[in-house]
Amino acid sequence: MIPAEIRSDFPVLSEVIYLDSAATSLSPEPVLAAMLEYEHVYRANTGRGVHRLAQVATQKYWDARQRVKRFIGAESGELVFTKNTTEAINMVALGLPWKKGDRVVTTLLEHHSNLLPWMRTRDRHGIDLRIIPPGPDGAFDPADLEREITPGTRLVAVTHASNVLGNLVPVREIAEICRDRGALLLVDGAQSVPHVPVRVEELGCDFLCFSGHKMLGPTGTGILWMRRPEIEPLLLGGGAVEQVTGSGYTLVGGPARYEGGTPNIAGAIGLGRAIGYLEALGMGEVRRHEQALTRQMIEGLTGIDGVTVYGPGATPDRIGVVSFTVQGLHPHDVAHLLDEEADIMVRSGHHCCMPLMTHLGVPDGTVRASLHCYNNADDVEKLIGTVRMIAGGA
Ligand code: PLP
Repeated sequence: MIPAEIRSDFPVLSEVIYLDSAATSLSPEPVLAAMLEYEHVYRANTGRGVHRLAQVATQKYWDARQRVKRFIGAESGELVFTKNTTEAINMVALGLPWKKGDRVVTTLLEHHSNLLPWMRTRDRHGIDLRIIPPGPDGAFDPADLEREITPGTRLVAVTHASNVLGNLVPVREIAEICRDRGALLLVDGAQSVPHVPVRVEELGCDFLCFSGHKMLGPTGTGILWMRRPEIEPLLLGGGAVEQVTGSGYTLVGGPARYEGGTPNIAGAIGLGRAIGYLEALGMGEVRRHEQALTRQMIEGLTGIDGVTVYGPGATPDRIGVVSFTVQGLHPHDVAHLLDEEADIMVRSGHHCCMPLMTHLGVPDGTVRASLHCYNNADDVEKLIGTVRMIAGGA
């Protein structure tokens, strides 16, 4: 059970019904307190400072990294702080040594952040980019995957959970195909890590990218986990070097190699605290809580005349991201009305998935309601009731 009292850790919930956590989640008070403590008590740069504030800041930054590693079961590999998922994916696309004809396989389900970096790699290096279309519910035909992931495929880049349809992608099966064919696997965990217990070893991926700000952490935080830290760092400079002479440099090993410049120290500390918060609730509980609300939301919305709900329906094998349209109304108008009539915050439009929207035949996009642990059945009831009213008047 998720205790009802946690809602008081998110003060804005007394003003609005927040159903936009897939875009960014709210941060609870203990996360803000941890960040403020850094500012008030031990603000200093991390790295090589010898004074005591620098030592405390460095230790706390280190502790935050360890916490994220434990959270995703990353006993080995390298875990690097980034500013978001987008930066993490771009670091891989820009950091691998490509040669003309290398094949990259991705899908039409992807967020632009897991599509554009590969399109640019195609345009710059002449890689052979394959984009597999999903079915209307977001699922893939395993034969399509088997066919496209040829021996010699360099990398497969796939989302773990769709930010539009909410379906979970069978990453473990894809990992097996990749292992068989000698391909690297990058998983975009932006929508899964905040909601589903994720262990990198079980997933079998080589890269896992996700955003701290979608999992109760502060904005400006993200993660790149790499099984083997073999990519070129994106940025060179302070903190990333071991030795510099007038004519050259040697890079440090470890995560610092990929974190040139002063990092988002308060952000990382806040993310570490957010993980502590989620762990105290229990990710299994978070998952169950969100599954029940998702079912309630889908069943309620599906029953309204003029409303179309997209995705795989009320299966447990999905996350709490629900896309729908209301006949006769633009998704932005629905989102405005939900705000005006009932203080409900949802997202509308293409959700950074324009090719998917075209594929689904909804060029104006959808309305998207998305959940996190702090939502409750009243939030969902209020959404369903207000959509019913809006659809009735459309
Ligand atoms: N991938 C998916 C599946 C997403 O949903 C998002 C954001 O909504 C991103 C990537 C990009 O995340 P960020 O904006 O934190 O870089």
